[in-house]
Amino acid sequence: MAYVFPPAPPVSLPVAGQADRFAIRRIFCVGRNYAEHAREMGHDDREPPFFFMKPADAVVEHGATVPYPPGTSDLHYEAELVVAIGTGGRNIEKVNAVNHIYGYACGNDLTRRDLQAAAKKAGRPWDMAKGFDQSAVIGPIHRAEDVGHIDRAAITLRLNGDIRQSSDVADMIWATDEIIAHLSGLIEFAPGDLIMTGTPAGVGALQPGDRAVVSINGLPDLSVTIGDPA
Ligand code: MN
Repeated sequence: MAYVFPPAPPVSLPVAGQADRFAIRRIFCVGRNYAEHAREMGHDDREPPFFFMKPADAVVEHGATVPYPPGTSDLHYEAELVVAIGTGGRNIEKVNAVNHIYGYACGNDLTRRDLQAAAKKAGRPWDMAKGFDQSAVIGPIHRAEDVGHIDRAAITLRLNGDIRQSSDVADMIWATDEIIAHLSGLIEFAPGDLIMTGTPAGVGALQPGDRAVVSINGLPDLSVTIGDPA
């Protein structure tokens, strides 16, 4: 097989304690999955889960500096638990969901909040608010066989050292097994898929020079620095 230009190299993340890397297929994201965050965005706490996506090549690793993105004056952080799928499947039952999980990571779902607000108001897609370049900050993946399954763990985000988000992944409206069950009725999961499971209350703006650190109990911290516009 020949190509008219060289295909992009696979996007991947390191796996803690392993030489081999985790090749990323797709990034699914859950909207409004913590009641307090749903309320701060002006919604009721319980409604069926809904999903949006980021391109795989939006991934940025721990410690990176992300240039302040174009087209926004309201870039936000969102601390999230990331679930890595190791075994594909469709119509996965909630009780079997854990068998499809390879591991977990800390994530920061960078969001152009002003573009998202405009899209919501106009009933338009969120892609340019959520799926822009370098918008998916994700730490190394930790295998479930090493760290266990994470369904209860403190999750915080510190901005320049100050705590801005503080919750527990047990407070997710839709738990990981329910998310996998729902999503696998809409798409067929493949190994390498990631799920960003939603963010707690306390989202806020980032400026050039800011450092945001996501902590989830049982995983190492994930940091990102915002740089000047490219
Ligand atoms: Mn999010």
